[in-house]
Amino acid sequence: MPKRQKERKGKKVRKKHPKHLKSTLYEAKGYTVERKRRSCPKCGAGILLAEHKNRLNCGKCGYTEFKNKTEEKTAETKEKKEKADEKKATEAKEEKATEEKHQETKEEKTGEVK
Ligand SMILES: [Zn+2]
Repeated sequence: MPKRQKERKGKKVRKKHPKHLKSTLYEAKGYTVERKRRSCPKCGAGILLAEHKNRLNCGKCGYTEFKNKTEEKTAETKEKKEKADEKKATEAKEEKATEEKHQETKEEKTGEVK
């Protein structure tokens, strides 16, 4: 008797996987349909990305998008942009203020001369 036959006893018990039905990816809302997955940017609308633990994957073209990294990156870039904008705004204000001051001093000087 080979060892393999001893290990297998009777019928093979298969694990029950969660159903991956397409109906689970869509939800009807009134007259429109809400998609619960993002569509692939390469393949376009109609091709949805499969959702994994840490990434989204397109089964058609192999496009993968990592969840955490992209989210962090986008958040960081947004914060940086906002900070940069604030800095620019403050600098512009300061410049304006200094210009105004200069103008005032000039006006005062001219007034004194006259
Ligand atoms: Zn794709």
